[in-house]
Amino acid sequence: MSLHWALICHGLITLTIVVSFLCGQWPIFQGTPISSIHRFLTFGAYQYFLRFIGAVFGDRGTNLILSVEYYCCDRPNPILQLIYLAIIGTTYYIIVKTSFSYIPGYYLSEVHRYASFLAVAVGILLFLVTSFSDPGTVKADNVSRYLSAYPYDNIIYTEKECPTCKIPKPARSKHCSLCNRCVARFDHHCGWMNNCIGERNTRYFLAFLLWHFLLCIYGTIAIGLVLAGRLKELQIVHVLTVYYRVDNSLRSLAPYVVQWLLDAHNTQILLMVFMGVVSLLLAGFFAYHANLCLTNTTTNETFKWQDYISWQKKLIEARASTAALKANIAGMTTEGKPRESKCKSFFRQSLLQDTEAIVKKNVYDKGFFHNLYEVVFPVSTRASFLHTKSKSG
Ligand SMILES: [Zn+2]
Ligand SMILES: [Zn+2]
Repeated sequence: MSLHWALICHGLITLTIVVSFLCGQWPIFQGTPISSIHRFLTFGAYQYFLRFIGAVFGDRGTNLILSVEYYCCDRPNPILQLIYLAIIGTTYYIIVKTSFSYIPGYYLSEVHRYASFLAVAVGILLFLVTSFSDPGTVKADNVSRYLSAYPYDNIIYTEKECPTCKIPKPARSKHCSLCNRCVARFDHHCGWMNNCIGERNTRYFLAFLLWHFLLCIYGTIAIGLVLAGRLKELQIVHVLTVYYRVDNSLRSLAPYVVQWLLDAHNTQILLMVFMGVVSLLLAGFFAYHANLCLTNTTTNETFKWQDYISWQKKLIEARASTAALKANIAGMTTEGKPRESKCKSFFRQSLLQDTEAIVKKNVYDKGFFHNLYEVVFPVSTRASFLHTKSKSG
């Protein structure tokens, strides 16, 4: 029995660490131990480690660690790509080793041996396509095409030049400091793909997320059905009720069945928990990116809008307090005493109305279907677009 508790504790600790690491910065976890663990894992632990290395090996040790950090975090590198391949390869290998001997089984036909292989192969193919496809690199010889793809909104995008590439910066593009290039309709630099996600590969990235979400759901359900098939084939419920005289109700049977599963199939249970958790994370990530696509915006633009709105609010606040101060001074000089309360309430009210008036006006949002079409068929790749451009140019 102690082994089961050890397994359950192991699972719970792993789950807490994975969730804290990946989602600890989410607002819902603010002020909870999850956010503290996230801070420790992402920043605190590394700082302690650096101090430890400095104390033991001196400056040479610290410099070595910092140069490794520079290579891993600030330069394009295939580390996360290799980790992805290791995770998907190991997971599939363990599934084959532990569960393929039960396929075909009571609930699963032989086709799942091949279907699972095909599903994993498609997943890896989507990963490779996203990793090695052109995200929409803007160069001197194609910049005119990208400049015509989107107009400047003159709010978050104005006409300017990239100081590094020395070429005009198309609206919605961004210079990726890791890849050292300008990328059209830049979303973010993805470490897992070791590639930028931009105008031309957002579609593959979305397909990757959706496919891996479905893959995890498929794996979880398939292993669940393997285990359900084992329960049926070995007549576990029959043995428990007839030979061990356990009451034939879900409540009485459940603890014994769980105990048997943890005893006989603990690896499959851990695989199910792992894939279940990963599928939830992927669902959240896919929903976030799908929403961006359907509203025709990007991760980069989300940050730009946040900056713009907070900057506008500060500007309005500054203007209002200057005006209030002027009015106060004027009141003091005309009547000899301050009319503070009236002025303050007036400006506070107008300030509130002004800050409420700042809204995100996304000129690129052309409606649900149009936005989706634009992701699947990027503007700069369309034949009609190229044709009209070459005619007009
Ligand atoms: Zn650039
Ligand atoms: Zn990049």
